[in-house]
Amino acid sequence: METSTITRIVVLGAGESGTGAAILAKDKGADVFLSDAGTIAPKYREMLEREGIAFEEGGHTMDRILSADEIVKSPGIPLDAPVVVAAREKNIPIISEIEYAGRYTDAKMVCITGSNGKTTTTMLIHHILTHAGIDAGLAGNVGHSLAYQVARDPHPVYVVELSSFQLDNMYDFKANIAVLLNITPDHLDRYDHLMQNYVNAKFRILQNMTPTDAFIFWNDDPIITEQLRHITTDASKFPFSEHKEEGSAAYIDAENELIFNTPQTSMSMPRADLALNGLHNVYNSMAAGLSACLCDINKDAIREALEDFNGVEHRLEFVEDIDGVRWINDSKATNVNSCWYALEAMTQPTVLILGGKDKGNDYSEILPLVKQKVKAIVAMGLHNEKIVEFFTGQVPTVVDTNNLADAVKACRELAQAGDTVLLSPCCASFDLFKSYEDRGRQFKAAVRNLKK
Ligand code: ADP
Repeated sequence: METSTITRIVVLGAGESGTGAAILAKDKGADVFLSDAGTIAPKYREMLEREGIAFEEGGHTMDRILSADEIVKSPGIPLDAPVVVAAREKNIPIISEIEYAGRYTDAKMVCITGSNGKTTTTMLIHHILTHAGIDAGLAGNVGHSLAYQVARDPHPVYVVELSSFQLDNMYDFKANIAVLLNITPDHLDRYDHLMQNYVNAKFRILQNMTPTDAFIFWNDDPIITEQLRHITTDASKFPFSEHKEEGSAAYIDAENELIFNTPQTSMSMPRADLALNGLHNVYNSMAAGLSACLCDINKDAIREALEDFNGVEHRLEFVEDIDGVRWINDSKATNVNSCWYALEAMTQPTVLILGGKDKGNDYSEILPLVKQKVKAIVAMGLHNEKIVEFFTGQVPTVVDTNNLADAVKACRELAQAGDTVLLSPCCASFDLFKSYEDRGRQFKAAVRNLKK
């Protein structure tokens, strides 16, 4: 009897990446089945129906899943989910959507990872490349999935944001340019609470790289530099740092100029000309500028694009100036470290909104900046005890609120002309909101309502 040679691909999870992977698999002639334990968003359900892809939702049919030759797993599904454990016990290869898509393209891959700043840097690199006329796709956590684009909207270059969860199931994929922005503790619940496991996941971005590939990384990060002492990579290294160090490919010089040095391009530009504020965005701009230099983009195009980038929603996003008070939405600051950078960028007395779902936060990291810049803290969440207790006595005023309307009202009363109100909550949003985007948009709407 003849056996079928058609590959059976099971896709777990029907978000952007899963749906894209299923479409690519179907296009490549695989027998595809998609399974999602939750409810599939209407947009993706319609897509799957339109494409004639078999799927289920609200549960997993184990027999069918475990008959797969290969499983493409959505990054949101943890490795200890029963369906994943069962597949591993049967030795079914489990890969990420990026790994799968990477098999079907020869495009140049510029890949960005790190604990904070991924989306900003990814969008900034994409902005520079498109400004210079390059046909670059934006993929990963932003835009359409890589798999979808490879299948239906191919580009010669992709700028790909990679979370540690995506990197977890990547094996043969190769980045041509890899950017590692920073590593601070995050998502440790998915890494057996071992920081080293999370660090190892991030460093998977270096897999398979050769000397013609470039590794751009933040050389001031103690975790990155320590890890580099223990591992080897064939990739050519392009470290960036605040001040000039031996081997720095980008840094700020004594005249406050950003300096970029690569074999392709050497250039400089005044720090003050960068579109994005804050030291963290200097780092993001260095990483983006180096990536662009290594892609052979012309200097003027790089400068112009670093100067006119519009920023990304919910990241230090200016909302309104109302009666001399600047309101800023940094809802994406879901951990303490990103709030540190937001505070670092503040130049006016600040009323800071903190709170949400605590991920084991240690607020001592931001205490010095809070003492220096923050005149009042408004806690906004269902469980504010930790914040109220920690900051009482450290700042002149701490206000306890448990909804957005009350928090904005308190800020309105506390802030005077010349102050800034900053939503940079250090916490996930799920106690009061659907997501950080929902939190940011509700915040902006409430602020704009103050003008009416
Ligand atoms: P990610 O995609 O990694 O979550 P984002 O670009 O969305 O990163 O930025 C999230 C938050 O992290 C921003 O609100 C900002 O406060 C902070 N941030 C951005 N870039 C950096 C950086 N290079 N280092 C530390 N914090 C940063």
